[in-house]
Amino acid sequence: MALLVHKYGGTSMGSTERIRNVAKRVAKWARAGHQMVVVPSAMSGETNRLLGLAAKLAPAGATQDNGRELDMIAATGEQVSVGLLAIALQAEGIAAVSYAGWQVPITTDSAFTKARIKSIDERRVKADLAAGKVVVIAGFQGVDAQGNVTTLGRGGSDTSAVAVAVAVRAAECLIYTDVDGVYTTDPRVVPEARRLKTISFEEMLEMASLGSKVLQIRSVEFAGKYRVPLRVLSSFTPWDIAIEDEAVSGTLITFEEDEKMEQAIVSGIAFNRDEAKISLLGVTDKPGIAHQILGPVAQANIDVDVIIQNVSHQGRTDFSFTVHRNDYARTMELLKTSVVPKTGAADLIGDPKICKVSIVGIGMRSHVGVASKMFAVLSEEGINIQMITTSEIKTSVVIDEKYMELAVRALHKAFDLEQSPP
Ligand code: ASP
Ligand code: MG
Repeated sequence: MALLVHKYGGTSMGSTERIRNVAKRVAKWARAGHQMVVVPSAMSGETNRLLGLAAKLAPAGATQDNGRELDMIAATGEQVSVGLLAIALQAEGIAAVSYAGWQVPITTDSAFTKARIKSIDERRVKADLAAGKVVVIAGFQGVDAQGNVTTLGRGGSDTSAVAVAVAVRAAECLIYTDVDGVYTTDPRVVPEARRLKTISFEEMLEMASLGSKVLQIRSVEFAGKYRVPLRVLSSFTPWDIAIEDEAVSGTLITFEEDEKMEQAIVSGIAFNRDEAKISLLGVTDKPGIAHQILGPVAQANIDVDVIIQNVSHQGRTDFSFTVHRNDYARTMELLKTSVVPKTGAADLIGDPKICKVSIVGIGMRSHVGVASKMFAVLSEEGINIQMITTSEIKTSVVIDEKYMELAVRALHKAFDLEQSPP
């Protein structure tokens, strides 16, 4: 019998009917003798609804300064969820107790709307577990050193669940969601996409950061740092399926790269439509130029992704990078007003209609020619590559947005991701 953390997403908590199903599922695990901690999200749509109310009252643009109050509002979504789930568990005859983040407490920094967890006091939770209770802890929220309620950023309940799993030393953290695992790519784009039984933690980290939306990236970082086994599985299976089957379903994010791992060179194709490309042409090539360009961008809190500087020609070079599409207009404006004049750039051009497509696989470490195969596939499809970046276990290309689905499908096929594992 083990100590386990279950996390249920908004869809799984979407109605009282579904909450009852969650309770029945958790009760099944508890009756089998497991010690259970459950971390639910707000009921689906609730966080958007709550933040929408705030947006109606705040004059446009003022929301940045309202972080503290926004967190106060948004955190109520999960507070309702934990109370309802504890009641549903009690109705199943299971002793259960609910806690808001501040009651545990889950302590965070004070970066409202995107706080980071600093520590979790596990004592209260452990005492309840020892007393035979199921402990239901609100996801997505915490409390800072001054006692302010904080939230962890959208999708943050994944991170809450993993952090709680670390704190209570859970044997496994099971993330129940509306997909039944991690796929080789998004099945909405490639219907032949295959669910992976296992994926290495490093690959999952790349997939999450490259645009796969299955898990919040911070939750994967957390799991990796503390080596908590993480499983993504469906909350839509009948609640009464056998525990032995449920326990091995979905996708296990693992740390062991042993012979049990599926031996693919490329494990998945990730993509991200939310990017925009910006280029400064003909900047004077001298020390400090990258800093002069990207310093102000960083200061404006704009995340930069792919960065490319060309070889210089006659003392001048081109400098390109990508940003989130939401930051595109702001970045262009910033460069126009404060960077172009200082760097003597000949031209500033941008393209918000790009996307990034990536192949990911730890097998790339030990195989040559993987990237060039990717380039060959794209060229056969007549797709022009605008930017390329690589790491040990991924190769990403920036291409025109209109070719995204074509590229993903062609790569998925070329790297044999449709076949079932041996
Ligand atoms: N309820 C929060 C959100 O919608 C946190 C989560 O669901 O993980 O982003
Ligand atoms: Mg989520």
